[in-house]
Amino acid sequence: MSTLVMKFGGTSVGSAEAIGQVAEIVLDQARQWERLVVVVSAMSGVTDALIRGARTAAAGDDRTYRAIVTDLRAKHYGAVSTLFADDARADLLATVDAYLDEFAAFCHSVHVLGEVTPRAMDAISSLGERISARIVAALLRQRGARSEAVDATELIVTDDRFQNAAPLMEATRQQVAARLVPLLAQGVIPIVTGFIGATEKGITTTLGRGGSDYSAAILGDCLDADEVWTWTDVDGVMSADPRLVPDARVIPTLSYSEVGELAYFGAKVLHPRTIRPVVERGIPLWVKNTFNPTFPGTRIVSEAESTPGTVKAVTAIKGLSLVTVEGRGMMGVPGIAARTFAAVAAQGASVLMISQASSEQSISFVIPTDAVPPVTAAIEEEMALELARRDVDRVWAMDDVVIVTAVGAGMRSTPGVAYRVLGALAHGAEQAINVIAIVQGSSECSISLVVAAADAAAAVQAIHKEVIVNHV
Ligand code: ADP
Ligand code: ASP
Ligand code: MG
Repeated sequence: MSTLVMKFGGTSVGSAEAIGQVAEIVLDQARQWERLVVVVSAMSGVTDALIRGARTAAAGDDRTYRAIVTDLRAKHYGAVSTLFADDARADLLATVDAYLDEFAAFCHSVHVLGEVTPRAMDAISSLGERISARIVAALLRQRGARSEAVDATELIVTDDRFQNAAPLMEATRQQVAARLVPLLAQGVIPIVTGFIGATEKGITTTLGRGGSDYSAAILGDCLDADEVWTWTDVDGVMSADPRLVPDARVIPTLSYSEVGELAYFGAKVLHPRTIRPVVERGIPLWVKNTFNPTFPGTRIVSEAESTPGTVKAVTAIKGLSLVTVEGRGMMGVPGIAARTFAAVAAQGASVLMISQASSEQSISFVIPTDAVPPVTAAIEEEMALELARRDVDRVWAMDDVVIVTAVGAGMRSTPGVAYRVLGALAHGAEQAINVIAIVQGSSECSISLVVAAADAAAAVQAIHKEVIVNHV
């Protein structure tokens, strides 16, 4: 039985016009597939606003969240009023009000308590998708289709790592079979809330920011879908962030490992964890543009159809610091790297990149800047003895750095890619860009460089121009 799962991102449901376009696309595909499942994000900006409301309330401010309620009401009312007439409109406006009342009540409690737990944050940040799914389902009904909003809390069973929950696939498969498959059998198009799930006890969780892609991939896996399509506001995965590099171009095919590196290093067009469930099943994944639906987009394939020597894309990730543990006596201390990273891991910080100088007199690694104070404190505690003996001289952080990554499976078989990337930084920008550290990704389809944040845009543009555009 042919099955398609389509996910529409925040901008794709970001206005009445966009939602109208989504309905067209869904109706069109409904004619071509026996089973069609739609996953939607919240309207663009809504999740950010909900989170900001909760944070400000926790910090003692009870005005901001009220202002956010007003803004969000206007945003959703605007879309509903444009798209619907009479009865359906009244019902939907009442639905919007009910969810925003819930938001205000949560923020009120958070304000009283003076803190927002990860669990409360998930309850709050899940509301945007609950509203958008209902609007999209109602519009499809208005246009003659059978459609129903489904909260993913009824489908996607997760662990209880609030704000970054992982699906429990067996339980999820059972829920999907019990709740979604019968709807599909009746010819209903389910509109599922992206981003959210629930624990086995039914407590709402979220899959991490940008997690709607992941929701679509999970459902694609559980339904054994033939294809998964994620619809966004650009023509596909591009050779660089189009906001940074205006002449970035669409990449027609990317392998799973390439897109994994890209997503991991900041190209947020696809949520990094999305790839896994679809790779494991070999389900084709497409990234398409809601606002240019006839354009094929990017196909993510399991086997790299990589052109030798080609770097396909360059990306940057910001908000990072380079932490260095250094000392001339370090060479003689056994297990120093293991102890360092154990101390980092104990703080729950994710290490994006590691480089150790061959002299073994220092270890450097990149972590998000907000993790620096706990991480340096933990390392200093772990190394207290070595610091006292001067085997380790200091633990220090350089803030305001970015990781710029060039991605392409072709570099595996091509010598000299690192040389070209470095050459682009030396000669490709107006002023030579200083490289603080360089690392080749373990999958050998990426090279990452640490540069100062101020050089990020110039570095991305230089690599794009010298290594991608001039060398294909
Ligand atoms: P959605 O809400 O549809 O999930 P996102 O904002 O999460 O959309 O992701 C799409 C955005 O990702 C694009 O608008 C683009 O600005 C940004 N982006 C960053 N890097 C890339 C890239 N290499 N290719 C395509 N888009 C990129
Ligand atoms: N609405 C959620 C977010 O903004 C999930 C998503 O858009 O994928 O993070
Ligand atoms: Mg996204």
